[in-house]
Amino acid sequence: MTNITTEEFIVNFPPYNKLEFGTDDKTRISDIVFYNGKLDCYCPKCLQESIFNGKNDDDYRRQRKSNIGLSDMPSPGTNHTAKLFPDGIYDLEFNCTRVAEHKLYVFFLVDSGTISKVGMSPSLFDVKHDESQKYTKLLDEHYKELRNALLLNANGFGVAAFTHLRRIVENFFLKQAHEQAKLETDWDETSFRSHRFAEKLKTLKRFLPDSLVGNAVIYGILSKGIHELSEKDCAVYFNAVKSCIFLALDDILNELKRKEAEKKITAELNKISQTITS
Ligand SMILES: [Zn+2]
Repeated sequence: MTNITTEEFIVNFPPYNKLEFGTDDKTRISDIVFYNGKLDCYCPKCLQESIFNGKNDDDYRRQRKSNIGLSDMPSPGTNHTAKLFPDGIYDLEFNCTRVAEHKLYVFFLVDSGTISKVGMSPSLFDVKHDESQKYTKLLDEHYKELRNALLLNANGFGVAAFTHLRRIVENFFLKQAHEQAKLETDWDETSFRSHRFAEKLKTLKRFLPDSLVGNAVIYGILSKGIHELSEKDCAVYFNAVKSCIFLALDDILNELKRKEAEKKITAELNKISQTITS
């Protein structure tokens, strides 16, 4: 089993992906299926980040254990035998510390030496902070690509998630850069139209945000054809590419904010100048 913590497993690990556990990992399985600690995640009912407390008190755990035919509750840190973890579904319940009625349920499946998360309410996507909302207006029709990318990534669909992410580069950033490039006197539109994605990226490089093409690694990843990438590659690249896209979008938002502020100041100064001259 990897070194992933229980909290990470619950909040970040894609559902239905199995973690295998060996004979040395039995304590880890116990730590997960009987976890009673805190979860730091987004509460979709509070509409903000919150802490969820485990509601799995000793009575509950004792009851749970009795249900699966075990006489004593394993204490954390002891090396349990495999029979302590018969195959089956294990569930956990958490309460939001802001409003106790806001609950979070997680269901695990232990099956033949593996553990996977097979259910969660609210969904994994809902409890991961939706950092994309501030781009709704800016991305407009392309916002759904970002939502799909985040949703697919949260559920472990690497290639599909990455494909949606790259569509934002192609349909939003590349399109904007293309509009700028077309204004150049020596622009060859016919040749550009015959290009594939990687060639278009190269041709428009100087019109694209630095955060997308300034770093050779990101530029290299973006230039690759989707067919060249495996599920694993896409899962590894996803966060880096997403962060670079967010950086580029943040730059645009900041620029828009600045222009808005400048407009306001100019209007105020005009008002003042009128009172001075009158
Ligand atoms: Zn809440």
